Amino acid sequence: MYSKACVAAGQGDSGKWPIESFATIVARGPATMTKAWWLRSMLCFGKASFVASLLMLFAGPASAVGPATFMMAASIDGRAVEGQPLAWNDRQMLLLGRDGALHDFAPQAARNSRKTGSIFRSYSISEMRSRLQIEFDSSFEISSTAHFVVVHPRGQWSAWAERLESLYRSFTHYMHVRAFRVQRPVVPLVAIVFRNQTAYYRYAAAQGSPLQPGTLGHYDPESNRIFLFDASRQQDNSDWSANAETIIHEATHQTAYNVGVHRRFAEQPRWLVEGLAMMFEARGVWDARSIYTRTDRINRLRLRDFMAGLESRPDNRIAYLVGSDQGFRTEPVGAYAEAWTLSFFLCETRPQDYCRYLERVAARKPFSDYPSRNRLADFTACFGNDLELLDAQLCRFAEEL
Ligand SMILES: [Zn+2]
Repeated sequence: MYSKACVAAGQGDSGKWPIESFATIVARGPATMTKAWWLRSMLCFGKASFVASLLMLFAGPASAVGPATFMMAASIDGRAVEGQPLAWNDRQMLLLGRDGALHDFAPQAARNSRKTGSIFRSYSISEMRSRLQIEFDSSFEISSTAHFVVVHPRGQWSAWAERLESLYRSFTHYMHVRAFRVQRPVVPLVAIVFRNQTAYYRYAAAQGSPLQPGTLGHYDPESNRIFLFDASRQQDNSDWSANAETIIHEATHQTAYNVGVHRRFAEQPRWLVEGLAMMFEARGVWDARSIYTRTDRINRLRLRDFMAGLESRPDNRIAYLVGSDQGFRTEPVGAYAEAWTLSFFLCETRPQDYCRYLERVAARKPFSDYPSRNRLADFTACFGNDLELLDAQLCRFAEEL
């Protein structure tokens, strides 16, 4: 049995970690956490109930942001979890599981808590394969590459792992040539590929997260997995990429959040997250090694939407987009179009400033609020104070595309 002080300091080897020690750990942590707005920016088709529960987190004074300097294991409602505590208070804990999932539970619900290591250690690719084979029934099999573990129906489906690995290479190459310091993912990236849309929807509903009609795939920030199905098989189309914009979009979210381009547990501006993913929908971006022209890098759908709103475009549009995610809730078509156009404009004309901005936002403190004035300050620090001039340049750039 470890003393409370020893556990709090993350010393010693494996042994019992009494749940009472939360009080000690909490007492020594910073007490500046605010509501977890950060998760909203990570959501594409995320779980509303999960967000709602996190919004209630850390309102009390006795809370702490880690990560803790140890790994722990416990049983929560009969389910074994193991990982690194990221943030906690006396009512709730967020723990990064060894599989990359975020576990959210009340400390009082933890049974048989014990410390299992002094640093976070993810499951290996082969450990992930074994766990996923148990989680999914025998109609599925597992393929893996250097970074991905892909669950897919038995048969001729293993190409998906290499496709995702190829997208990963394209993405990291794109960032690397713009001098962005890409990090290695700390966990294997998991993708679940379903046979068809019906199987995908059925699985989501059984998990308690029914999908909106028309959903073609999603990245779930809670589990850190992407879920998709092969639309090309349904439509008797041999080119998977013909229907793959959604898959590329979601895979971009997953990769960006796992290689340090975005920070998974700090609020990121939605225009930045969505803008980057929409840029990669264009073949000239995700397949940049074989196609090189600017025309191929244009997301035609988003450009069309942007141009349709150009006549009635309000003043201060950039400040509104950068300072708040509100537009994605009130007028999503316009917000997505603005997000793509601003991202593409900055990437094409000011790539170094764009990457500097990505790094600045990704360096934010986890689990902290990101008010509008701070968002604007980060943006103007990289792109200058004259947003009116920038807006005029943006519109001219779009008109010339
Ligand atoms: Zn998205």
